[in-house]
Amino acid sequence: MPTATDTSIGADLIREVALELNRRAAIHIPNDVRENIHAMAERETEKLSKFVLLQIVNNYEVADEDNVPMCADTGLPRFYAKIGNEARLEGGFVALERSLREATAQSTAEIPLRPNRVHPLSRKDHNNNVGIHAPNVDYSWEPDAEWMELTAFHKGGLFGGDYRMLFPGDGIDGIRRFYLDVISEFFKRGLSCQPAIVGIGIGGTKDTCVRLAKEAACLRVVGDRNPDPEIAALEEELVELGQRTTLSAMGFKGQGAVMDAHIEVAYTHTGGMPVSIHHQCFALRRATARIHADGRVEYRENPEWFTDYYRRDTVS
Ligand code: SF4
Repeated sequence: MPTATDTSIGADLIREVALELNRRAAIHIPNDVRENIHAMAERETEKLSKFVLLQIVNNYEVADEDNVPMCADTGLPRFYAKIGNEARLEGGFVALERSLREATAQSTAEIPLRPNRVHPLSRKDHNNNVGIHAPNVDYSWEPDAEWMELTAFHKGGLFGGDYRMLFPGDGIDGIRRFYLDVISEFFKRGLSCQPAIVGIGIGGTKDTCVRLAKEAACLRVVGDRNPDPEIAALEEELVELGQRTTLSAMGFKGQGAVMDAHIEVAYTHTGGMPVSIHHQCFALRRATARIHADGRVEYRENPEWFTDYYRRDTVS
């Protein structure tokens, strides 16, 4: 088991990596998403939907070639930080958050990102995507690790989420019904800029299931299945159900509305079954790096956010 080292992960290094992650996230759509959209375009039999899917793939390629953000709406930049239990951060968590806020402001000016973040009432805009509770930073921990991992995510899809308190008696049928209600509500008007990855959070408290739905949509790669075989089977069923709605890309007729469905669960009150559904649009902007105390940085596309530890089921 690694032990705590005297070497800490530098605040400047974190800021530089966060800036680079924002650049990668804004411009390059991860391969799992682009390969899936390409496969959907190949399968699609409806002419208009096929055209839209091919244009999305084309848009990904143009962004790469021209080194510009993939969508004009660069979303809301946020970070997910997974920190090893043995890691030491120079200046602690306050310095980490300062580095992430500095990187967000710098990214907004340099990439550039659209300064989307405003005060909800006065609409004051610092023009740098930084403000009260902005950017969001979510944390998880990893035992026996001396590194930290940072994922930059630019969340699009302003309209794509909903919550419903179900009861144990509603069962899986209740989840299926909620899923279809949400899809027909959002997808038929193209509000989620689909094809979308649908995250479903089941259980926990209201805030937990909303969080899990978003993380399931944003932080698991296309094709990934929940380790619980029954949940994995339900994920596959929901993908198929979504493809049978005859809704496709941007609300056109076809089969290409749902790229994938990811379910996460949390233990909940015995009297209820809260469920949240979250859509992540085809502009899935995400990049991850593992930062070591010796200064090594390893970039990758899969955040691997849902670890065995994160999903632990027992006391230890
Ligand atoms: S929902 Fe996604 S694809 Fe649509 S405008 Fe927003 S960021 Fe762009």
